[in-house]
Amino acid sequence: MKLLSTGNPKILKGEKQGYMTYILHLAPADVSGYNTCPKATAGCKAACLNTAGRGGMFKRGESTNVIQEARKRKTRLFFENRDVFLAILEDDICKAIKQAEKKGLIPVFRLNGTSDLAWEKYGIIQKFPNVQFYDYTKILGRKVNGLANYHLTFSAADGNDADVRKAIAQGYNVATVFGIKKNSPMPKTYEGLPVFNGDDSDLRFLDPKGVVVGLYAKGKAKKDTSGFVKFPVIMMKAA
Ligand code: SF4
Repeated sequence: MKLLSTGNPKILKGEKQGYMTYILHLAPADVSGYNTCPKATAGCKAACLNTAGRGGMFKRGESTNVIQEARKRKTRLFFENRDVFLAILEDDICKAIKQAEKKGLIPVFRLNGTSDLAWEKYGIIQKFPNVQFYDYTKILGRKVNGLANYHLTFSAADGNDADVRKAIAQGYNVATVFGIKKNSPMPKTYEGLPVFNGDDSDLRFLDPKGVVVGLYAKGKAKKDTSGFVKFPVIMMKAA
């Protein structure tokens, strides 16, 4: 079983900056029967990137595909045979490092491509102290202070405004999905912080500190009415 993948369009933007991101996609929330996203909200589950791109292409009359089934298999392995899973992951990371270096790129890793697990608990980040890992999370209070090679960006969603404010107070950047057209200008500020365009690349560990990381609504998020997607222009008019 191969756990890591590359090749979504945002990752390709990172290549131009000299980085190759390897992503682990598990089945999000409780899709596999195990919960990989303890702080998932109704809105984020509905808009989840799990069904973006080829992961969301289903044959007529079918509600799953090989990509979804592979993500469920990986997730079950993580919960049912943790040692085997972590051994494969470690091996995949070693291979990825060699592959990226052959291409002259810096390998970086995002283990929560479509999950929100506290990877600091499983020792894998600690095994590669000279390698950069990064993730988005909705979980406050993760114990990552001693891990200089693990960068977290907090994720805003429907109903987690109080956690967003706490995350900002704790010094996290906060990723926020805005309901504005792709390529239109991001709002200048949001929640009192400058907005940084997070769609120029996926390399969150390079972002300036003290910003809201603005993302354009994509796929199902474009139709969100839950509060997961924020509408800054409308709010500015109303203010
Ligand atoms: S927490 Fe993230 S990965 Fe999990 S369901 Fe929500 S958007 Fe998807």
